[in-house]
Amino acid sequence: MAVKCFSLYLILAAIVIGGVNSEYIEYNTKPRIVPEKINVHLVPHSHDDVGWLKTVDQYYVGSNNSIRGACVQNVLDSVIASLLDDENRKFIYVEMAFFERWWRQQSKAKKVKVKKLVDSGQLEFINGGMCMHDEATPHYIDMIDQTTLGHQFIKAEFGQVPRVGWQIDPFGHSAVQAYLLGAEFGFDSLFFARIDYQDRAKRLRDKTLEVIWQGSKSLGSSSQIFTGVFPRHYDPPDGFTFEINDVSAPVQDDPLLFDYNVQERVNDFVAAALAQVNVTRTNHIMWLMGTDFRYQYAYSWFRQMDKFIHYVNKDGRLNVLYSTPSIYTDAKYAANESWPLKTDDFFPYADKPNAYWTGYFTSRPAFKKYVRDLSGYYLAARQLEFFRGRNSSGPTTDMLADALAIAQHHDAVSGTQRQHVAADYALRLSMGYLQAEKLVASSLFFLSAAKSSTEEKNPGTKFQQCPLLNISYCPASEARLSSGKSLVVVAYNSLGWKREEIVRVPVSSKNVIVKDASGKEVVSQLLPLSDITLRIRNEYVKAYLGRSPRDTAKHVLAFTASVPPLGFSSYVISDTGRTARGPPASDVTSGNINQNVEVGQGNLKLLYSEEGVKMTRHLSTRNQVTAEQSYAYYIGSNGTDKDPQASGAYVFRPDGVVPVKSEGEAQLTVVRGPLFDEVHQDFNSWISQITRVYKEKNHAEIEFTVGPIPADGISKEVITKLTTTMKTNGTFYTDSNGRDFIKRVRDFRTDWDLQVYQPVSGNYYPINLGIYMQDKTSELSVLVDRAVGGSSLENGQIELMLHRRMQHDDIRGVGEILNETVCLPEGCKGLTIRGKLYVQIDKPGDGSKWRRTFGQEIYSPLLLAFTEQEGDSWINSHKTTFSAFEPSYSLPKNVALLTLQELENGEVLLRLAHLFEVGEDSEYSVMAKVELKKLFHNKKISQVKETSLSGNQEKAEMEKRRLIWKVEGSAGKEVIRGGLVDAEKLVVELVPMEIRTFLIKFDDHIEMVGERKQQLT
Ligand SMILES: [Zn+2]
Repeated sequence: MAVKCFSLYLILAAIVIGGVNSEYIEYNTKPRIVPEKINVHLVPHSHDDVGWLKTVDQYYVGSNNSIRGACVQNVLDSVIASLLDDENRKFIYVEMAFFERWWRQQSKAKKVKVKKLVDSGQLEFINGGMCMHDEATPHYIDMIDQTTLGHQFIKAEFGQVPRVGWQIDPFGHSAVQAYLLGAEFGFDSLFFARIDYQDRAKRLRDKTLEVIWQGSKSLGSSSQIFTGVFPRHYDPPDGFTFEINDVSAPVQDDPLLFDYNVQERVNDFVAAALAQVNVTRTNHIMWLMGTDFRYQYAYSWFRQMDKFIHYVNKDGRLNVLYSTPSIYTDAKYAANESWPLKTDDFFPYADKPNAYWTGYFTSRPAFKKYVRDLSGYYLAARQLEFFRGRNSSGPTTDMLADALAIAQHHDAVSGTQRQHVAADYALRLSMGYLQAEKLVASSLFFLSAAKSSTEEKNPGTKFQQCPLLNISYCPASEARLSSGKSLVVVAYNSLGWKREEIVRVPVSSKNVIVKDASGKEVVSQLLPLSDITLRIRNEYVKAYLGRSPRDTAKHVLAFTASVPPLGFSSYVISDTGRTARGPPASDVTSGNINQNVEVGQGNLKLLYSEEGVKMTRHLSTRNQVTAEQSYAYYIGSNGTDKDPQASGAYVFRPDGVVPVKSEGEAQLTVVRGPLFDEVHQDFNSWISQITRVYKEKNHAEIEFTVGPIPADGISKEVITKLTTTMKTNGTFYTDSNGRDFIKRVRDFRTDWDLQVYQPVSGNYYPINLGIYMQDKTSELSVLVDRAVGGSSLENGQIELMLHRRMQHDDIRGVGEILNETVCLPEGCKGLTIRGKLYVQIDKPGDGSKWRRTFGQEIYSPLLLAFTEQEGDSWINSHKTTFSAFEPSYSLPKNVALLTLQELENGEVLLRLAHLFEVGEDSEYSVMAKVELKKLFHNKKISQVKETSLSGNQEKAEMEKRRLIWKVEGSAGKEVIRGGLVDAEKLVVELVPMEIRTFLIKFDDHIEMVGERKQQLT
């Protein structure tokens, strides 16, 4: 010890003698831009996944740290303290699901301080949704809703409007993200990291990482956005990461300590910056200072950045500043340059030759369907909440809104989270659903109980709903009706136009008839429950509800419900007794497949074979098209010696394909009835399907049941194919988040010369609405009921991936094998999924009408609620039909009502969307008009304010602020949008693909359904 002290004394003496001193250094970090220098924008950020390896709450509180040491509370606590320490420091925050959790637990005094940080721009919210949503597998309505929720929070608490899109981690980027979830929010720019490695290489060479992206053909330059792709990932250049355990050398500027390295580190900094300058236009570059769950001890980052800013600026070769993407965007804009134009999208994404991230388009198909089902339910429930009047003491749709919001995260609906996290998302959704279900029941009660004089006699109609109808489980409809009682079915239609749709409910009796509210019998059809349905019904009810279904349902009763726009109709199902007549019995035959079974009465005929189904549509006397449907599975690669990349939760890397053929003597059950014909067909012990052809409809419905996929050591990725002789020349079309259709050409990319290494997975695209192909004589479309991956790998052929069960992790971080199971008392087995595909063949150009309008019906199925009545008691004492619109008014077929929601402040959020693209349909791709007065029948509108897509700013203000960027070459012709809404006429115009958002106030919020509401509130 004595020796050490002596040597330290010597060193100190030497330093003092040499005139070197160690004292407080005031780092000059005042933000400034120096136009003549290279400006390095340091953007401190933390990428906080709203669930992935841990659940959202585990990440927030920092529990389950054996999986990963991550605690978002630490991030926010320490970042705020660091910002308060020095007014020059900046930070951006993105995920409002986390920030909201943190915010509600802060003291008033802390909140005041944080608000100041936000006001001064030290803390900036960007993106601002509850999560950073995925871009391949969410529906655009969910993307809008989850971002709106975050934007409303930011507006309410901070009065701020986010300016920048920040989608740094999602695995590919959609056109809808750019134009809708970007420009229509009033964002001036959008940034992200992940694009195809070949695309990035070319953009680095050409300095085209930064572009003006026009994501919409229809809206063109009116909805474009400055878009920056990072030159590498969303982390700092090598050697500049400063979390406490990181290995980068800190700037050591205390001359009394060893390893003084200021000049060395300044040189490193300059070198890294100059490398980036070589691939970037203008003299502004951005450094992403942070990555996943960083800044848990924020000082370790800010301390180093303070020093770098101070010393590099002193060095003088560069200018460095604390910045944000907004400041960076303004600097790019001020440079007054022209930027390259980018159209369509950034799918699919590959980070290596054999690593196409196209498996996640399908991963966790049951969860994807659950999200989609509840998305449609949430839309309908908000309408009903509005009719009823929002009741803050509950039940409300708020919990469902939150659960759906985080389910859009890029490791949620994408299917790339760990199993326990998937269960957490599903649990939240089901809890949200249960609350919304109560709200829906009470709203329907309120709307139907409008005959006020009878109210006392009917206190509290109990409406039951059946979320498990897809496996024919519905205790309400299965209950045996005792004599004199009947079942009332209320069918609610959340679409803005009248529809007729087949309702299917399981029943326990054969002798049932269906009557409409006026007592007129409606045509119905009784069908047998297939064996496979009975099996999964028994197993899944037990597995998920913990009880066995009462084994009563033996049949499915189907009838056509006719329902007015934004309203409901009521039907009565009654048991006619053992001797009386039931519905016209379906003609059920079981037989061998070789008997040339054909179904379909109209222009569409289905013929069955061992491999699958042949669907033939007669388009004219000389023109008929046949599509053969079949199943197969890809063998997922285990990786090879040369490249260990396996197929997994993210990546699809096939290693051969195996066709599925019927095992043994294939049996068919053929059911023919007055409404539709259907054929039940088993291909093997784990793939079966029912095909349906409806009277007076031109499409075929395929209801597939896939699973449990055998776990025999081989990864299997199950597809169904439709094969025709159509001459499609490598071209097909897939939707972007359920909205615009984008042209795809096999083995081709618009932006670079594609080197093909993976001819299957490299041609896969995400599908949310549908996929179609066309040639000179016909057009074939397939619509889906959830997000799936799909492609056209040969001319005239379409394939969709339905289910996956994998044996390997694909080394992208999740660290778990995608192997979904369902567990029963006797053990666990692979998950079975059930879903629907809809296939239609049209003349070329005729398919879009069906895709658009029927697509809305798929997204928003009729919402069914059930109650019992004695005699005709319910029907006689209730309002049996309802429409919110003025009688006989309907939205035009090219317009959808995306949102009708009463906000907490009493204002009503209304979104209307044109459903067609420019040039898509001769009749519907035109300006549409909506009459608000007829929409809000019985209510007096006192104010209509048009806003941004998330309702957080007035549209006019947003347009005034919008940066107008210059584009290299021609920016295309200008698009004229729907005109301002006249306060007297209250007519909304919509041009193709336009979505308009309004905040509406009413003079009297009570009039909607008469005086009843006043009594109830
Ligand atoms: Zn992430």
